[in-house]
Amino acid sequence: MHELSIAVAVVEAVEEAAREHGADRAEEVRLRIGTLAGVEPDALRFSFTVAQQGTVLEGALLVVEEIQARAHCAPCRRSFEVGSPLSLYCPRCQAPATEVTAGRELELAGVRFAEPAPGGTATCPNHEEAAADVPCH
Ligand SMILES: [Zn+2]
Repeated sequence: MHELSIAVAVVEAVEEAAREHGADRAEEVRLRIGTLAGVEPDALRFSFTVAQQGTVLEGALLVVEEIQARAHCAPCRRSFEVGSPLSLYCPRCQAPATEVTAGRELELAGVRFAEPAPGGTATCPNHEEAAADVPCH
């Protein structure tokens, strides 16, 4: 199941980020998923509830932000929404799109970690705030 492997990869990425931040629990995970990414958001949500068990993400909320696919037509110098049915042909001139500009995203957009336990210091050298978004570089 495709979505399950994605959910597992997300959980692994968040666990790694939690280690970096010294956090032991994540409250919310945000993902950006393009409509061309080949991911079924409902299936991913379900897979996430399975993958999060017994991890720092246990009980965390998954927020999926869907990105509408867009393509660009060079001759018309315009971009258009790639809706459903899926068509990469320009609705104005019928030429095939020269570039897909959005819709293939499959990104970890952010994680909110729980407040560190009293006495603990969850700080990242690259961030002022303890509960910073990931990815953090
Ligand atoms: Zn066109």
